[in-house]
Amino acid sequence: MAGGRWQVACIALLALLLGVGALSEFNQRGLYAAPAAQDATPCRPDLTSPTGLPASQSPTPFSDPCQSPNPPSPIPQFQVVRITFADEAALRPLTGNLDVWEVDRQAGEVVALIYPGQERWLQLLGYTWTVDVAQTAEISQPVVRSKDQTSGIPGYACYRTVTETFADLSQLAEENPAIAQWIDIGDSYDKMTPGGPAGSDINALVLTNRASTATEKGKFVLIAAIHAREYATAEIATRFAEKLVAGYGVNPDITWLLDYNEVHIIPQANPDGRGWAEQGYSWRKNTDNPAACNSSPFNAPFSYGVDLNRNSSFLWGTCFSGCSSPEPCSVTYRGSSAGSEPEVQAIESYLRSVFADQRGPNINDAAPLDTNGIFISLHSYGNLVIYSWDHTGTDAPNMPELRRLGRKFGYFNRYSVCNTSNCLYAVDGSTTDFAYGEFGVATYTFEVGTSFFQSCSYFESSIVQQNIDALLYAARAARRPYQLAAGPDTLSVALSATHVDAGRPLTLTATADDTRSYANGYGVEPTQPISAGRYTVDRPSWEITATYPLSPTDGALNSTSEGLWAAIDTSGWTPGKHAIFVESQDSGGSWGPPGAVFVTLFGQRGLALEQNPASVEATSGDTITHTLIITNTGEQTEKFVVAVQSGAWADSGLDSELLLQPAISVTLHITVGVPLTASIGMTDVLIVDISSTYPGLGGTATLETIVTKEPTSEPGASPPPLYLPWIYNKAP
Ligand SMILES: [Zn+2]
Repeated sequence: MAGGRWQVACIALLALLLGVGALSEFNQRGLYAAPAAQDATPCRPDLTSPTGLPASQSPTPFSDPCQSPNPPSPIPQFQVVRITFADEAALRPLTGNLDVWEVDRQAGEVVALIYPGQERWLQLLGYTWTVDVAQTAEISQPVVRSKDQTSGIPGYACYRTVTETFADLSQLAEENPAIAQWIDIGDSYDKMTPGGPAGSDINALVLTNRASTATEKGKFVLIAAIHAREYATAEIATRFAEKLVAGYGVNPDITWLLDYNEVHIIPQANPDGRGWAEQGYSWRKNTDNPAACNSSPFNAPFSYGVDLNRNSSFLWGTCFSGCSSPEPCSVTYRGSSAGSEPEVQAIESYLRSVFADQRGPNINDAAPLDTNGIFISLHSYGNLVIYSWDHTGTDAPNMPELRRLGRKFGYFNRYSVCNTSNCLYAVDGSTTDFAYGEFGVATYTFEVGTSFFQSCSYFESSIVQQNIDALLYAARAARRPYQLAAGPDTLSVALSATHVDAGRPLTLTATADDTRSYANGYGVEPTQPISAGRYTVDRPSWEITATYPLSPTDGALNSTSEGLWAAIDTSGWTPGKHAIFVESQDSGGSWGPPGAVFVTLFGQRGLALEQNPASVEATSGDTITHTLIITNTGEQTEKFVVAVQSGAWADSGLDSELLLQPAISVTLHITVGVPLTASIGMTDVLIVDISSTYPGLGGTATLETIVTKEPTSEPGASPPPLYLPWIYNKAP
């Protein structure tokens, strides 16, 4: 024990001495994998100038670095190394000073990106390490925009740039004003600072049914890309938004999520830094104070900026060591003061506007179990779901509830669910600790995937869907995250019919499942048997008093997963679309979030067919036209299938489908060619069957052609029959 403590003290002292005398020599700087021109010839910004690029000459983020006035230059010798550490005390100097990519506590190994000078630093502190040859080779690869790539980050077409993200999401809001708003919540460092690059707004997309009469909406805030180089994160957030908007009114679950929740998405929390990262730099921080690192003898022109995930004002810079860095050129530089950065100020003030403060003033005050709100910050990488606290290994006062909900997310993305003290390393000034500390809401960092510059193939095949599924669960639980995650999930909610006549009975079925949790080796959440199921009509149970029970399909509630059913009497329901919400409860007494299904009840239904005339008189050799007017005389839109049974004579009738709103008519014109050989008195009959795709409504028209005349001229002079397509005349 004594020896261990002495070792800790030694390392701390060495780190301190180096920090005073020489830490600036070992500055971090952005690795770059230089982008290439359209012709796929690599081009690189000049990173070897002794003072780096002055701010006025810095390539503007979003510009093509191949247009930079600086000629190609040699690549500095960055290496990805695997460093062995013995204990927490030996880990802290690494996380506090190096660009740490991975921490494996069980193996006692850190993966970090180091600059040549840092090898000496590691040596002096007595660390041993090996070079990760494969990763070092990978980071030295230039980023190449293929000739056919027209959008996205060069070499990574699946990831939209900041500009593209903002354009697509603002357009999404413009096209869906009832459920989406694109709002400006602040400015980036560059936008706030004259004389440099133009900078950017910080934007949020707010998704909710703005006309909803919900008494209390759940609050879910998602941010992404606060670390610039973490490519996959912003795209997950953007696609999540697009999925919600596309599913509203169509998917019953997504519909209630937006009717009864607000989903706030800040897809690009660090647009200035991202501008560099999009050019291939391993840029993590914002772009504050470009001159800060120019005096370094080790030349670190691209190591400036503040780590926005160390700059939050809650317990900023307070943990012992290794949580954040006071050194301006470190990748984890915490900034000059708590909340000093405009991006952090924008996010913090936005969170204050969304979340109520539900936690007491003391560090050990737990938020109440009925707390409303979830906050998730998307990062990469590591395949982790991390719950607060971040700044200490001491459990957060809501740890059991935080862990329980985290394991629900783990069910979907299969990540390790843990906190910084047992699967990563402690950090202070994180956005998640701010959100939990200030408001008591349930907060998580997702570390998605296996690389900052994640390949599109892995992103598309694995990362995006499983994380969107986890985010959908977050939206389900947002109103009561500490309670709902304790209850079973209600899945596969279905009805015996999607459309029925009002008053007809329906059978409702669902599956209740209490087992959907996963932590990948970080413990197992206990499960309980299902004890009850209930449903409500039109509004969820917390908005309405009338609830109805479901029964177990196997006759007994005794398992952690149960089939449930109920017979529903629709007598007295108003015609139109209804939502049915089903919830289930476990024997611990917890109800989970609902699953929903839509049903449309028909009001009065009707179909009118009008033939004009009923029987058409024809001359042999002529082409005549039948007219059939089809009218939806009911109270709801119907889809009709039109089936034509031809007679012996050729006609232009075709099978088809008609979508008809109430009181709308369609006129069909069907031509029949009367053969020259047909004699007076001969007839031909065409039958047109019209039936709704929903049972119970249909009709038949019989179109008769009768020959009443024979042609007066010679047969050869008659023109050939002409077959016309149908002509649709829609008229109210
Ligand atoms: Zn990150």
